[in-house]
Amino acid sequence: MDIAAMAEKIAAGDRRSLSRAITLVESGRADHRADAVALLETLAQREGPEALRIGLSGTPGVGKSTFIESFGMMLTGMGLRVAVLAVDPSSARSGGSILGDKTRMERLSRDPNAFIRPSPSQSQLGGVARRSREAVALCEAAGFDVVLVETVGVGQSETMVAEMTDLFLLLLAPAGGDELQGVKRGIMEMADMILINKADGELKSTATRTCADYAGALRLLRKRPQDPEGFPKAMTVSAVEETGLQAAWDEMQALAEWRRETGHFAGRRADQARYWFGEDVRNGLLAQLATGEAKARMAQLADAVAAGDMTATAAAEDMLAALRD
Ligand code: GDP
Repeated sequence: MDIAAMAEKIAAGDRRSLSRAITLVESGRADHRADAVALLETLAQREGPEALRIGLSGTPGVGKSTFIESFGMMLTGMGLRVAVLAVDPSSARSGGSILGDKTRMERLSRDPNAFIRPSPSQSQLGGVARRSREAVALCEAAGFDVVLVETVGVGQSETMVAEMTDLFLLLLAPAGGDELQGVKRGIMEMADMILINKADGELKSTATRTCADYAGALRLLRKRPQDPEGFPKAMTVSAVEETGLQAAWDEMQALAEWRRETGHFAGRRADQARYWFGEDVRNGLLAQLATGEAKARMAQLADAVAAGDMTATAAAEDMLAALRD
């Protein structure tokens, strides 16, 4: 594979090459992995404009695809190029992706300034997330102005998405006060903005109330150094009526701008690079335990421990010593 030529095409905005490159980073084959590493390295050497990476989380049904479609169309209407990726933990379990449905975001998927990539099906959330992070880097290298990374609000996926984006949005539906408890504190703490969707028709007043509740809850959280006055912020939007989207975008830009000026933007990306480096090393070590000689030795020692021939402590020492050799 000609890595330099592929990098050139991606940087020139060639969509076919971008798609092929994402397939490459998603592949589990060792030779593909080597090419992917080289490609990412080559692209990282280039000086390109920085994308705004936006993470979006919300439980099924809150209107993520409708929002991305409306919001994405608004952005492409402004002349911006928008990429949409998904990290879908359910695909890790079922092998099929609920975020991969082609019929979602129909208008946006036909827009020449948009690029939509469904979630890969992989066996592990960690693996899916790492590859999504690499796909984000590829989209950025391809010159997209905005890269949206969508995830379903379950489990660890929010953390992963927050670790690969500059801004993290939580999309919620209008609900009674009781349900405020339903959003885990940890997820609230990750959010830069909470958007209460479906602020239209009969739901409008409930949405306004829900928004005020969350604004209050956000004020109670510990102040984070990466936030200017007034952030994290709660706002209402309607993805269907396409209202509040411009205001939300203005706030996202203001926040990103403030973080750029204060160094928090670059700081967050640096912390994320650190995080993924550590994750890759840890995952690599775990993978090593599950293959070849190490796997056999693990099994052997586990049997010895189970039979009472060795203590767990001694066996673990033995295993670690073998890995060091
Ligand atoms: P997702 O599962 O989070 O991707 O949610 P969808 O985008 O598929 O939307 C779920 C349902 O909510 C659909 O029936 C949408 O038409 C509806 N919906 C999405 N956005 C809005 C909105 O702004 N207002 C109203 N009233 N309904 C919406």
